[in-house]
Amino acid sequence: MKISKRAMAVIDSPTMAVATKAMELKAKGVDVVSFGAGEPDFDTPDYIKEAAIAALKAGQTKYTATTGIADLRKAICAKLEKENNLKYAPGQVIVNIGAKHSVYESMQAVLDDGDEVIMPAPYWVTYPEAIALAGAKPVVVKTDRANSYKMTPAQLKAAITPKTAMVIINSPNNPGGFTYTPDELRALAKVLEGTNIWILSDEIYERLIYGDTKFISVAALSEDAYKRTLTINGFSKSYSMTGWRLGYTAGPKDAIDAMGRLQSHMTQNPVSFAQVGAVAALTKEAGQVEAMRVEFEKRGIHMAARLNAIKGVVCPQPTGAFYCFPDVSAHFGRTIGGVKITDSMSFSSAFLEQASVALVPGGAFGCDENVRLSFATSMAQIDKGLDRLEQWLGE
Ligand SMILES: *Cc1c(COP(=O)(O)O)cnc(C)c1O
Repeated sequence: MKISKRAMAVIDSPTMAVATKAMELKAKGVDVVSFGAGEPDFDTPDYIKEAAIAALKAGQTKYTATTGIADLRKAICAKLEKENNLKYAPGQVIVNIGAKHSVYESMQAVLDDGDEVIMPAPYWVTYPEAIALAGAKPVVVKTDRANSYKMTPAQLKAAITPKTAMVIINSPNNPGGFTYTPDELRALAKVLEGTNIWILSDEIYERLIYGDTKFISVAALSEDAYKRTLTINGFSKSYSMTGWRLGYTAGPKDAIDAMGRLQSHMTQNPVSFAQVGAVAALTKEAGQVEAMRVEFEKRGIHMAARLNAIKGVVCPQPTGAFYCFPDVSAHFGRTIGGVKITDSMSFSSAFLEQASVALVPGGAFGCDENVRLSFATSMAQIDKGLDRLEQWLGE
């Protein structure tokens, strides 16, 4: 039977090949160290779980308003005002089934066939697929290591055409934990003034920032930025709630209304009792997120320092999220353990095969000189995996 062209065009997550191999090895009893995780290794804080359990017991098990329960939209507005200096009315906020869904649905709501979406590389793997599913075309802006893999205003300007409909900003970023400074964001927003180009600002890692890094929401940069920005955030990364599937989008009311119309026929509402947990996450937090952030920061400093101590590995210090994204291309062209290393994929698969450590090839993120290592794992695992990398590259 026929499968749609749309579905056939979606590529299997390129990160899966290595992950599947790692699982096979683990099943065979091999002691695999995994740096592949794209989610926090902490459990969801108890105060959030208890609120959801109480909601279940109280019978909050029915359909809710399509765009999310009023309490949650109100709590999101209060959070955005207090922490992000952003004033949104509850009607300008929609709760989605994870921020991944926010990205997909917001693109469905504002993009048309043939539109172009500017996306700096390295980028999160979901963006190009979500863009294509909206009928639009990703326009990749390759960034430089010298600029900490951040897009410059000149690069943005050069990528704009009459067809440009959207620019994606993801700061702090996945796969590298790179964070734009407020001034850098201001300069990018300035380039878009006077155009009708949307900004999709994926702020999912906003709470996980390190050192003296400052976070600012794109929509808070200026009146003009506010009008053109779809602010996307969620609960997965800050509150360690990946399995709860809760994200949200805030922005101009006509765009949020359009998302609501789509959502009413696609998914109806986010899970009722999960939404009650999210209200607690936002309103009853007492240091739980900060405790996780502090632990991530320690690991990130340690991992980057160890990576930089390895010959031919250059790792910018992550300023946010929980990933290191070192350039390992100095080793391309070498033969290690009988395998010729030519790109991020051959590097990752040979390393897994020969030293039983799983990481993610940077090619998946549009940056083939690099590999991604998640530090959402224990210090002991980090040291064990990096001992193996040091030894493997030293051969
Ligand atoms: C993890 C992640 C998301 C979304 O996560 P959800 O679990 O769908 O909320 C969005 N953007 C980036 C860059 C991510 O890494």
